[in-house]
Amino acid sequence: MVEKREEFKAFVTLNVAPFAEQWDRDQQVPAGVISQMAQAGYLGCSLPPEYGGQGWDIVTFGLLNEAFGRASSALTGVLTVQAMVSMALLKWGTTEQKRRWLPPLAKGEMLGAFALTEPGAGSAMQSLVTEFTGNSQGLVLNGSKKWISCAQFAAVFLVFGTLGGRSVACVVPKDTPGLRIEPISDLLGFRAAGLAQLHFQDVEVPSANLVGKPGYALSHVAPVGLHYGRISTACSALGLLRGCFEESIAHAAMRKIGDKTVGDMGMVRSLIARMGTDLEAASALCHTACRAEDDHRPEAFEKTLMAKYFTSRAVVRAASDAVQIQGAAGCHGSSAVSRYYRDAKIMEIIEGTTQIHEDILGKIFVDQAGRCGPLARSD
Ligand SMILES: Cc1cc2nc3c(=O)[nH]c(=O)nc-3n(C[C@H](O)[C@H](O)[C@H](O)COP(=O)(O)OP(=O)(O)OC[C@H]3O[C@@H](n4cnc5c(N)ncnc54)[C@H](O)[C@@H]3O)c2cc1C
Repeated sequence: MVEKREEFKAFVTLNVAPFAEQWDRDQQVPAGVISQMAQAGYLGCSLPPEYGGQGWDIVTFGLLNEAFGRASSALTGVLTVQAMVSMALLKWGTTEQKRRWLPPLAKGEMLGAFALTEPGAGSAMQSLVTEFTGNSQGLVLNGSKKWISCAQFAAVFLVFGTLGGRSVACVVPKDTPGLRIEPISDLLGFRAAGLAQLHFQDVEVPSANLVGKPGYALSHVAPVGLHYGRISTACSALGLLRGCFEESIAHAAMRKIGDKTVGDMGMVRSLIARMGTDLEAASALCHTACRAEDDHRPEAFEKTLMAKYFTSRAVVRAASDAVQIQGAAGCHGSSAVSRYYRDAKIMEIIEGTTQIHEDILGKIFVDQAGRCGPLARSD
């Protein structure tokens, strides 16, 4: 594991960190770096070797996302959605679907995008209006999807909608007639993540592309993708939190105010103390979640929710404090923390907002108490 951590760090130091600011300004990641990630095996790292993947455990997947998240949240989004699509197909795809789609996804010859959110349905997944109807040839798809990461360069979309009132998920290749991809620019953060809106007008797809049984897309298929999306996002946010911490301590040690450094100021030390402690706590939560997933423990779901919930909120605090510690310098594009500040907020929105995490986690905790019965008093 130590070797992998060093390998990821070396890759990111050479191929990602020096260019991340420019990609953010260009609102685009170049195809070259995605090819390099594919060659390194990173885009199919969690898929089994029988499909051409690396078969890495989730702890290693977490380390990969943390290393990339330290340098570019937007590029890490490619790892996130590739895993979401691949793992949903691995779990719920038919033998034929896995044979057809997983090898090119595993090798990174093909990028996937996870098309769930609609203009009128984000947190409320049950409100999807994208609709599949049946005809003699197969299925016809109408509707639209919004805020879809990597949609500008993905080759296939895992699209969620309804069929006869039941939720369905379906693989839709990018070049299918009737599909229009409209890039979204000027995002607050994740500016290079290639977001787009998808418009489907009488798009014909074979019924064989349906993933899972009709009626199970929102209860079974989407949750698998979102689970791996949360693991990836939690670890990416952990990398970003580490970035905030490292930039802050370096600045606090070097920047002089009169005959003192910024780090000599008690109030700045408070900010750094909180940041460093949040970093340790977030690291432990992310590792616990990844380990629970590797051990196939039932609590992997809630551990992942906790890791994403804690780390995304901690990085928003840390990024704000990192800008504060740098003063005006932190408010300019020449300082990495100004980008961290914008990217951090996105972590609280994607793969379920903070409020949705609180809703689910709160219910889990209360239900656990309900199962244990009233707390026994010792007095
Ligand atoms: C950079 C970026 C990348 C994204 N990538 C993808 C992608 O690849 N695929 C995809 O499908 N989607 C993607 N999304 C969309 C994202 O998943 C949604 O934005 C998110 O689910 C929230 O939905 P919404 O924006 O419609 O907000 P809404 O659902 O309208 O929520 C608005 C506010 O109300 C709160 N709220 C909503 N419901 C409740 C509730 N029941 N209880 C308490 N509070 C509630 C929310 O927490 C939020 O604060 C992306 C978004 C961004 C910004």
